[in-house]
Amino acid sequence: SYNRGSSGIFQRRTVSGRVPADLGRRRLRIVVTGGAGFVGSHLVDKLITRGDEVIVIDNFFTGRKDNLVHLFGNPRFELIRHDVVEPILLEVDQIYHLACPASPVHYKYNPTNVMGTLNMLGLAKRVGARFLLTSTSEVYGDPLEHPQKETYWGNVNPIGERSCYDEGKRTAETLTMDYHRGAGVEVRIARIFNTYGPRMCLDDGRVVSNFVAQAIRKQPMTVYGDGKQTRSFQYVSDLVEGLVALMEGVHVGPFNLGNPGEFTMLELAEVVKAVIDPSATIEFRPNTADDPHKRKPDIARAKELLNWEPKISLKDGLPLMVSDFRNRILNEDEGKGL
Ligand code: NAD
Ligand code: UDP
Ligand code: UDP
Repeated sequence: SYNRGSSGIFQRRTVSGRVPADLGRRRLRIVVTGGAGFVGSHLVDKLITRGDEVIVIDNFFTGRKDNLVHLFGNPRFELIRHDVVEPILLEVDQIYHLACPASPVHYKYNPTNVMGTLNMLGLAKRVGARFLLTSTSEVYGDPLEHPQKETYWGNVNPIGERSCYDEGKRTAETLTMDYHRGAGVEVRIARIFNTYGPRMCLDDGRVVSNFVAQAIRKQPMTVYGDGKQTRSFQYVSDLVEGLVALMEGVHVGPFNLGNPGEFTMLELAEVVKAVIDPSATIEFRPNTADDPHKRKPDIARAKELLNWEPKISLKDGLPLMVSDFRNRILNEDEGKGL
C-alpha cells in the first residue's frame, strides 16, 4: 500500500480505504501516541473533526482519560492502554509520536524517548506510514544563539539532571533521521517550544500551569531563581495547526513550532496576575539545575515552508485556559470534601 517516493500521502492507498463524501479525499487511519495528554488530546480532536480515524496509544503516565472522554463511543476513535516502550502491531497511514514524560517531575529515568521512538519507527517502516516526531526546544539546551534557528546544534549537558529529556529527544531525532535515510521512512520533525492551554497537567511543575493553578488557589506564584530567565509561550491550538501542516507537507524539517513572543518569568507572573487575580503575589524559590537562561524560536523556516505562524498572543491565550483550570481545581477540592 506504499509507493516509495510518492510526493504526498493522498497518492497512497490508505489502510482504511473508504472515501467519505464530506472529506474529499481518502479517510486516513492515524495513530497518536501520548494522545491522552495535553497536546495529544487537542490534536486528536482536530483529526477526528476533519473526518479521520484515530487510534490513541497511551499508558496514562501523565495523560488522563478525561481528556478524551467526549470521544468515547465515536466509531472513528479508539483508545489503547499501552506503553510504547513495548512493541505493538497496527496498520496505519500516519503516526504522530507524542508519548513522552514531558515535564521535569516525570521524565527522569524513563526510556520512552529512545525505546518508544524506536518501536514507532519500526512500526512506520513495516506498514509504510508517515512518522512525525514531537521533539523539543530543549534540544538547544542553554542556547548560545538567540533566537534559535533549526541550524543551531545546541548546548546541552549530557550528564545533567535534565539530560534524560534533552538527550533523549536528541537521540529520538537521530533515530528518526536514520530510519529516514536508511529505511526510506517518511518522517517529519517538530521542535516544540513551551506550549500552554486547557487540559495541561495541573501538577507537573511547568511554569504556566503552576502560576495559573497557584493564582486560582490563592497561593503565591513560585518564581524560580531571579525570574529574569525567558521563555516564549505558544497557545495549544497554534501548535496543533503547525503539527498538522508539517505532517501534511512535503518537508522533513526539523521545524521550530513556537510563538516568538518572549517573556521573563516575572513578566509571565504579571500577565497571570492581570488575567486571574490582581491581588496575586509571587514568592522566589531556588532555580533547578541547568535551567536555560533564555529561549525564543526563529520561525522563519516554518513560515516559509509550512505557511504557518502562531495567531494567539499570551494575553489572548491565557484567559482561554482559566475556566478549564478553575473547574478542575474545584472538582479536586470537592473530591477532598472541602
Ligand atoms: P503530556 O504529559 O500531557 O502528554 C504526554 C503523553 O504521553 C501523556 O498522555 C502520557 O501518559 C503519555 N506517555 C508517556 N510515556 C508513555 C509511554 N511510555 N507509553 C505510552 N504513553 C506514554 O505532555 P504534552 O505537553 O502533551 O507533550 C506532548 C509531546 O510534546 C511530548 O513529546 C513533549 O516532549 C512534546 N513537547 C511539549 C511541550 C509543551 O510545552 N507542552 C514542549 C516541547 C515538547
Ligand atoms: N516494531 C513494532 N511494531 C511493528 C514493527 C516493529 O513495535 O509493527 C518494533 C520492533 O519490535 C523493534 C522496533 O520496532 O523493537 C524496531 O523495528 P525494526 O524492524 O526497525 O528493527 P529490528 O526488529 O529489525 O531490529
Ligand atoms: N519556573 C518558575 N516557577 C515554576 C516553574 C518553573 O519560575 O513554578 C521557571 C523554570 O525555572 C524555567 C521556566 O519557568 O526557567 C520554564 O520552566 P518549565 O518547566 O515550564 O519549562 P522548560 O524549562 O522546559 O522550558
